[in-house]
Amino acid sequence: MKVFISVDMEGISGVSCWDDVDPGKPSYARFRRVMTAEVNAAVDGALQAQAAAVLVNDSHGGMRNVLIEELNYRAELISGWPKPLGMMTGVDSGVDVAFLIGCHARAGTPHAIMDHTWSGSRVYRLTVNGQELGEVGLNAALAGHFGVPVALVAGDRAVTEEARALLGPNLVTCAVKEALSRESVRCLPPERAHGMLRAAALRALRESPPAPLVIESPVTISVDFVNSLQAEAAGSLPGARRTGGRTVEWTGEDVIAAFHGMVAMLALS
Ligand SMILES: [Zn+2]
Repeated sequence: MKVFISVDMEGISGVSCWDDVDPGKPSYARFRRVMTAEVNAAVDGALQAQAAAVLVNDSHGGMRNVLIEELNYRAELISGWPKPLGMMTGVDSGVDVAFLIGCHARAGTPHAIMDHTWSGSRVYRLTVNGQELGEVGLNAALAGHFGVPVALVAGDRAVTEEARALLGPNLVTCAVKEALSRESVRCLPPERAHGMLRAAALRALRESPPAPLVIESPVTISVDFVNSLQAEAAGSLPGARRTGGRTVEWTGEDVIAAFHGMVAMLALS
């Protein structure tokens, strides 16, 4: 069994505001260490469940957060940006199952730590074939394209609820904290949160996972931007259709093509 772990940062235990996830701010150094320890907890759980290999993809911001020198020696790390499948780079390399950890809820979710979808300053709302998805949904769809199920989602309580609503009751979730507002949380010390995550990872591999999330082709991703200027810029991408003042959509032959269209639109915006 080969396990893929995509790790974001907003949903890591103890992280409570944008400063904590911003390399330019003093608290970031603390929380990248906590993030690395949280990855190790998930890796430990996977190894306890007899995983043969664990591939970790750093998925936050510039995607260079995890401290390689503190990572479990049996794991491998993908670090840096840009990369072919963004937060899911590596999921196409023959893995059997995916974990998404450190996750946050989609833009517009109440009582959710730093809720956003891809970019808080640019994306107001995102739909895939008409269904509103956040990063967890989009990432599960990218995994699903390669037949890989998401078996575990960890982060704040709001994202675990979002993920279960999308992927069903077979999904194992681990809420390491509960948001009181967009920038305040009630959280557990890492030692306890990591114990929970280790147990959740073990359980996720012992139980049967949800079915891979497969999006029917062709796939249209529609983005409601925060303002119309961003939509103006994104709309200049060849193939993009501006369907509203702040809305642009792009259709691809499958979810991978649509994802690349979305990344290009967001880069232009
Ligand atoms: Zn992030």
